[in-house]
Amino acid sequence: MTDVLILGAGPAGAAVALGLQRLGFGVRLVSEWRRFAAVEGVSQRVLEGLRQAGLSQALASAAAPSPRRVQWNGEGQSINQECLLDRPRFDAALRDDLRQAGIEVLEARVLKVESGDSGHRVQLDGGEVLSADFLVEARGRSAPLAGGRLRGPETLSLLNQWRDAPGRPGSAVESLPDGWAWMARLDDGRCYWQITLDAAARDLPPRDLLADYCAQRRRQSSLVSELFGDAALQAASLHARSSTAILFHEASGPNWLRVGDAAMAVDPLSGNGIFQSLSSALQAPAVINTLLRNPERAELARRFHQRRVEHLFHRFARTGRDFYALEQRWPDQPFWRERSTWPDAEPLHAEADIGRLRVERAPVIQGDLIEEREVVITADQPLGVWHLDGTELAPIVRALQAGRLGEALAGLAPEARRKVQGWLLAQGYR
Ligand code: FAD
Repeated sequence: MTDVLILGAGPAGAAVALGLQRLGFGVRLVSEWRRFAAVEGVSQRVLEGLRQAGLSQALASAAAPSPRRVQWNGEGQSINQECLLDRPRFDAALRDDLRQAGIEVLEARVLKVESGDSGHRVQLDGGEVLSADFLVEARGRSAPLAGGRLRGPETLSLLNQWRDAPGRPGSAVESLPDGWAWMARLDDGRCYWQITLDAAARDLPPRDLLADYCAQRRRQSSLVSELFGDAALQAASLHARSSTAILFHEASGPNWLRVGDAAMAVDPLSGNGIFQSLSSALQAPAVINTLLRNPERAELARRFHQRRVEHLFHRFARTGRDFYALEQRWPDQPFWRERSTWPDAEPLHAEADIGRLRVERAPVIQGDLIEEREVVITADQPLGVWHLDGTELAPIVRALQAGRLGEALAGLAPEARRKVQGWLLAQGYR
């Protein structure tokens, strides 16, 4: 019997496995390979997350930053940067990291999971059956859709791939009347173009004509011809996948946890898929450690995981919404109308308000466990802030509210005092 069995060896599953192994748990992964090749763009903070998780081979597989052009709302191209991840290479590097850490990865497809209070039985396609005390569901968007969930507008991405001569790498994104397209070229000549549309789009042809349809859409784009030239105008290999934003209502049970896309999958426009997967996976070892070693705090640990998953989901959903709203040429097109108002009208960042600071008890990560501490709830940090580089904020806010702030600040070392004063100013303290 394995202590913890992880289903899925994507970035989320791999990060949880390494974290649990460090805590002394017996860990095993079971995963099949992704069935399609893709390229994804990530920011520096994803690389930082990989470093933090100890996924050094995966980190090394990312290409150096390359230029990314953005053509949105009919405005000239703005240029920034992103790092391109060749997913088959990245996924193989994740497994190298696991192997190097001595963690077993079974290559198999999970067919069925039977769960009960005393553990889990997982049936694999080769007929083998595995048992585990604790299960981590990290099969990404392929994880079974059990339980309630919140779904964004139904969205479909069509990914095309072809090969050209080696050249300078780069990527671009452009808005279209009925969706948007992201495209990338790797230095070895592999080219990718991905169009994202409403899944119910009425003018989509039947499946066997989709590759021609995509080639025709590429022909209409000046950005495509700039990035790829004529080679992009032929029909190319095609893979269709859902990119609907999904949040599961239950991200954990007493002996299981969902992480990464299996807990919440965001719209690819937010550009944060891998970042959110790593975020939920990096906190998971402390949650699982608490569930297994301090079961009396199970409710607290599960609340911690759930609240953070939900918070992250809404933050990225609103990030996507605001980026959709920047495109204003087609306000009556259902694609843009729905996405520029979903999930709600709440601002991405609430305005600071010193009068609304309050102290509450809430779950936090302390070392390798989830504990309850006094945190400060702010307009922009509804989950609360426990400390600022080691200085607890609840006593400071209590002192502020009692008119004794000067006294509380005087008790801090100069460096800590400066940081706290900066934080108070950011909260609207004058
Ligand atoms: P995954 O990476 O999906 O890993 C799940 C693993 O489980 C896979 O190895 C899979 O083969 C395995 N698995 C699945 N089912 C089974 C089974 N039954 N048995 C065994 N194994 C199984 N994110 C970005 O950061 N940048 C981007 O540019 C970007 N572009 C995207 C474009 C699209 C169209 C979509 C849909 C997503 C995009 N993402 C992007 C999101 C990103 O792909 C995911 O957020 C991220 O890979 C999730 O990591 P994960 O570990 O949770 O799941």
